[in-house]
Amino acid sequence: MVQNINSRVADWIRSEIRDLSVYHVPDPAGLIKLDAMENPYHWPEAMVEEWLAVLRDVSLNRYPDPSPIGLKASLGKAMGIPIGQEVLLGNGSDELIQMIALALAQPGRVILAPEPGFVMYKMIATMTSMDYVGVPLAEDFSLDLEAMLAAIGQHQPAVVFLAYPNNPTGNLFDRTAVHAVIKASPGLVVMDEAYHAFADDSFMGELGKHNNLLVMRTVSKMGLAGLRLGLLAGPQEWLTQFDKTRLPYNINVLTQVSAEFALTHRAVLDRQTQQICADREKLMADLQMLDGITTFPSRANFILFRVPQAAAVFAALKEQGVLIKNMGAERGPLAQCLRVTVGTEEENAAFLRALAQAIK
Ligand SMILES: *Cc1c(COP(=O)(O)O)cnc(C)c1O
Repeated sequence: MVQNINSRVADWIRSEIRDLSVYHVPDPAGLIKLDAMENPYHWPEAMVEEWLAVLRDVSLNRYPDPSPIGLKASLGKAMGIPIGQEVLLGNGSDELIQMIALALAQPGRVILAPEPGFVMYKMIATMTSMDYVGVPLAEDFSLDLEAMLAAIGQHQPAVVFLAYPNNPTGNLFDRTAVHAVIKASPGLVVMDEAYHAFADDSFMGELGKHNNLLVMRTVSKMGLAGLRLGLLAGPQEWLTQFDKTRLPYNINVLTQVSAEFALTHRAVLDRQTQQICADREKLMADLQMLDGITTFPSRANFILFRVPQAAAVFAALKEQGVLIKNMGAERGPLAQCLRVTVGTEEENAAFLRALAQAIK
């Protein structure tokens, strides 16, 4: 008798994978989209025309450059990567996290990160059969250094991921505490600087001072999320090994030429980033004026805030055409928390109006 498909799946798909849920992205159709830390701005028309002219010459029939030296150099310059440090490109920084895990994975090996934090660290640990250890942040979302050092001592992690600023909390960790983590870590420490454009702080300048430090960046949050391009900077000795886990043509040709083009118009992206930072301060002040709302400080392009009834407020906002992120926690540090991405002035105003209505 032929085996039923569900029992075959159960026999062959690893139980950790069957237990995962698919990374859920809500349908934003018709809604003001403030849920995913995207830059809300487009390019000036003339710049779009210039970009289209560049695309015309792309050879879609050929494989992309497997290791685009020119793009790496442009990114190195734009991101301030110190001379002598290497660069590895990923299909988004998500893929870089995966490459690191693939190179380190071995039964019992640990990925360690503070929590609440970026969910991909745990998901990728699961996918690569690594163990994951989450260390609770202090109540104010700062690093609980004592707990971190104890966990590092106990679990001897192959890699520690620190998002700087942290997602979903928005804060930067204390630099001295980060240094202590780097010093105590037997394996790697990856500073995930996805929100660097809004943070005005970085560990990039420290590459080369610690042989277990790597810095990860992405162009996603600075206005190029659709390209899927991230980079890992650090010592050649590590990156050569990670490069072996990379699929040969991971950065497609449209991404390569579009990213290089965008970097030659850096001033446009920088102006947008500055606008977002100014609007973040305004949005923060406006949120703080509303009764019953607790905000958390942000050095990123989003704000985490707590309301009396997160699920109800989230639904009421959606009903009024505004999509943000419900952190989905009844208890714990993110209880009743929502996260809003800084949008355009008009979008932020629409969000605030809807929120005032929702908590009335
Ligand atoms: C958004 C985000 C990323 C992923 O960026 P991509 O380059 O789009 O894959 C990585 N780390 C953190 C902390 C993020 O918030």
